[in-house]
Amino acid sequence: MAAGYIQKPGREWGPCLDPCSHLDCKANREMAASLCKYCHQQIGYERGFYNVRETANDPNDLVHSSCHETNQTGPNIELDPDASLSDADPGL
Ligand SMILES: [Zn+2]
Ligand SMILES: [Zn+2]
Repeated sequence: MAAGYIQKPGREWGPCLDPCSHLDCKANREMAASLCKYCHQQIGYERGFYNVRETANDPNDLVHSSCHETNQTGPNIELDPDASLSDADPGL
């Protein structure tokens, strides 16, 4: 999953400073204004974010990349199953 990043308005890749009708600017403004699912703050500008929507047909579902990484609990944290077996059997 690639992180997104929106430049501040007026920057080279950011939306125009003034209201405009460019589709790219509109999309960027909408993404920056949407709320992170974790901290409920605006995604904002110049912060990494992920789009965690389930399918391409869903509306955008944006979270800060830092919030997502903090809140992520997954199978990657599992202990090596072999490590706990070695001294678990007193019968030998
Ligand atoms: Zn524009
Ligand atoms: Zn957040």
